[in-house]
Amino acid sequence: MEFNRVAERFQQTFEQIGDGTDMKQCSPALDVDSVRPLRYNSGKGQGAGTDKMSASQLHDTIGLDRLRDRAVRAKRMLSNCTLCPRHCGVDRTAGELGFCGTGDLAVVASYSPHFGEEPPLVGRWGSGTIFFCGCNLGCIFCQNYDISHLKRGSEVSCEELAAMMLALQNRGCHNINFVTPTHVVPQILDALVVARADGLNVPLVYNCGGYESLETLKLLDGVIDVYMPDVKYSDDAVSEALSRAGDYWEVCRAAVKEMHRQVGDLRTDGNGVAASGLLVRHLVLPEGLAGTGAVMRFLAEEISADTYVNVMEQYRPCYRADEDGRLARRISVKEFAEALDDARKHGLHRGF
Ligand code: SF4
Repeated sequence: MEFNRVAERFQQTFEQIGDGTDMKQCSPALDVDSVRPLRYNSGKGQGAGTDKMSASQLHDTIGLDRLRDRAVRAKRMLSNCTLCPRHCGVDRTAGELGFCGTGDLAVVASYSPHFGEEPPLVGRWGSGTIFFCGCNLGCIFCQNYDISHLKRGSEVSCEELAAMMLALQNRGCHNINFVTPTHVVPQILDALVVARADGLNVPLVYNCGGYESLETLKLLDGVIDVYMPDVKYSDDAVSEALSRAGDYWEVCRAAVKEMHRQVGDLRTDGNGVAASGLLVRHLVLPEGLAGTGAVMRFLAEEISADTYVNVMEQYRPCYRADEDGRLARRISVKEFAEALDDARKHGLHRGF
């Protein structure tokens, strides 16, 4: 088993980064070949206090047999890939690549406690982020482009991925946060079978771009505790131009409804740490490109006025943003204030 190699590498990484808050510092590249086996200590490592345990107790999850069955069903989809709405139909088990550019194995850029996520995920000991390379969206302004599009990472086996989850739990992280997971759901489920059997019990966070297939989401019912989708746009022409996803708005609305059906509104434990539920991210773009008003109306009227929404102001031009002149600047103070007004106007009140 590769567990101990992974954990030791993780230990070195953690000691280098301390509890810094910068994502780049918290996310050094993973060198799978140099990691060492994990000495798993039953999930009660540093910082794994009673707050975390009570969080996990708030959410029912499916048993190991059903989880194994979900993993098998998801892996079957890899040979004629319809995991996401692109329905590329490629055989990833035979080395064919679709839009996301990921084959049979997941590719991980980094894994570490992350202190820059939303407060209910970070708590005291951080969110246990695992950054996957590749993406099923083609955002020309991608804020994580070096990971999502340049794919700087290493292929990992099922056992290595499970070991990363357990290592993060051992460090006291309040959750395992799968970043850009849509195209690697089978690999995640497969690894969860191993990790759960070895004691993984913290909440699982599905941190995605919102371009999801209902069929795949249903495989995650009773597995994922916290869904954290982006809701990026409400205009098809914009989503096609900026992310090559002309049906984004319709697909995303259906996906968010399914996520909310599964987990409901965000619930936290007595320490304010997320236990289960929906947490939506919306990045405000220049020139009203994100269609913020319609997004907020949808969340308030068709999901719940109690939806936790992180209205994000940190857009900056990067990657290929210069291909569209509308993306050439950061948003103004006025644009951000208007986005917050949109949220409040529709009755939303959590997360901003
Ligand atoms: S997961 Fe990748 S290969 Fe599969 S349908 Fe989506 S983009 Fe295509």
